[in-house]
Amino acid sequence: MPFSSPFPNLDIPKCNLLDYLFPKGQLPSDTPIWIDAKDTNHHLTPKALLQWAKRLALGLDRLGSKSGEVVMIHTPNHIFVPVAYLGIVGSKRIFSGANPAYTVSEMVHQISNTQSQYILAHPSLAKTTIAAARQAGLPEGRVFLFSDMPNPSSGGLQDWRSFLPSPTEADAYSFPELAPEESTSTTATVNYSSGTTGLPKGVEVSHHNLIANLDQTIYMRYLKKPWNADTRPREVWIGFLPLYHAYGQLYTIAMAQKLQIPCYIMKQFQYEEFLRVIETHKVTHLQVAPPIMVMLSKRPETAKYDLSSVTDILCGAAPLSKELQNEISRKLNCEILQGWGMTEVTCGAIHVPGGTIDDSGSVGQLDPNCECMLLDDDGKEVAPGAPGELHVRGPNICIGYWRNPHATKESLSPDGWLKTGDIAVVKDGWFWIVDRKKELIKVNALQVAPAELEAVLLEYDPIADAAAVGITLDGQEWPRAYVHLKDEFKGKITENDIHAHMKVKVAKHKQLVGGIVFVDEVPKLQSGKIMRKVLKEWAKKDAEAM
Ligand code: AMP
Repeated sequence: MPFSSPFPNLDIPKCNLLDYLFPKGQLPSDTPIWIDAKDTNHHLTPKALLQWAKRLALGLDRLGSKSGEVVMIHTPNHIFVPVAYLGIVGSKRIFSGANPAYTVSEMVHQISNTQSQYILAHPSLAKTTIAAARQAGLPEGRVFLFSDMPNPSSGGLQDWRSFLPSPTEADAYSFPELAPEESTSTTATVNYSSGTTGLPKGVEVSHHNLIANLDQTIYMRYLKKPWNADTRPREVWIGFLPLYHAYGQLYTIAMAQKLQIPCYIMKQFQYEEFLRVIETHKVTHLQVAPPIMVMLSKRPETAKYDLSSVTDILCGAAPLSKELQNEISRKLNCEILQGWGMTEVTCGAIHVPGGTIDDSGSVGQLDPNCECMLLDDDGKEVAPGAPGELHVRGPNICIGYWRNPHATKESLSPDGWLKTGDIAVVKDGWFWIVDRKKELIKVNALQVAPAELEAVLLEYDPIADAAAVGITLDGQEWPRAYVHLKDEFKGKITENDIHAHMKVKVAKHKQLVGGIVFVDEVPKLQSGKIMRKVLKEWAKKDAEAM
């Protein structure tokens, strides 16, 4: 029997995300929400953001861009990323964010895979963007410079502001309304995830998925401390989560607007600067991933700053031990609330409700409107209390994988169940994530797909065969490769040669920091499928011997 959320179903609107975030007939506020953490005079209010978003939408119309087209953003965080997100999504286009650390080949993959029609590229990344656009066959005139300041045209690229209409023209523009069925079928974002197997794929998230996940997450966060706009305590957030990822998009862009919470945006994560911003602006709530918890615990700088304004921390995106959770809770005298999610559930589906004192390492309870099942390898429900693969259903489950019906069919059942690849146990409605069945490696909470590393390794001529797996060292996961060299290269090719090959091909978090091992054979089934369980055992043994 599927297990339902213990909370009452929410009545979730079906409309354009913009209409949910900026209700018609309600004047947008003139109080800053997105504030540059380094220069606090540089900020955007909801009123200003809405006007910029309308200018972008109308500007894209005039360039000839159609609804349903993908517009890619390739930039570090800054206060105008929310403008791009809402202008693109609100005008029924599709937002796809690329990791600023991407190499040219990774960008080519995302441009080609999304069939992006326009790219907004930060000047510091424009060289990579333009090289990738060329290789992907996207005309250079479709790439624009995009930062929080006007940019002089450079290298043949124009600034995005060059195609924007005047503010007065934009004032007459309205974002299109979406009928209920359009809200569920219109793709708003395509973020990348490898799901349970294979290469990174675009995850299609609809307007309704986003609205549902906002309503669910807000419900869970304020379950035990109900609030209304007039009486709730003032909150201050810090926006350092990457805005090309679902986690950053949901909180720093959409939820900050919905709840009108000022958010100090960091362009680049630097630990001491992060602490300084918390102290200076009396940040009350943090959304983090486990690597930040490790820093809070281990880095000596933590003690130099007054972090007493922080009342609670949400931690998700990768496993967090209860020991570390409890240590930070004591050290900062605040609530640590875990949450579980994945790009395919829009952002999150299981949360510890705000106001709960939890010291058990649980990732929480199922969000409203969600159901789940825990299944064994044969697809049968496990006995109560036993571990099983988590399958989730609800209004926040994505439409599917972008232009990839095969992958969609593998992960999403016709009646809406998503196979997550995570192994969980549930007790009295509380969940613990105990293992990961899927191929994914998480480095600093970012996804690394073994299949992608293997494909890149095989591009290197001396390599006959290769397999990649995660190895856990000092509580952190890193990619490790087992490589079989062609006979003529044995003894001639070193680990450094392979590292040099990887360096130009993939971003920093995908580098083989967990090591390279030369083997005579990669363990495979007769079908040619890599025996991932064997690899995991090898990596575990290797880690113990290190
Ligand atoms: P992403 O799509 O990048 O958000 O990655 C989703 C994956 O991160 C999940 O399928 C899990 O494997 C992992 N994950 C997310 N939240 C947690 C959590 N609280 N504990 C353990 N693993 C998590």
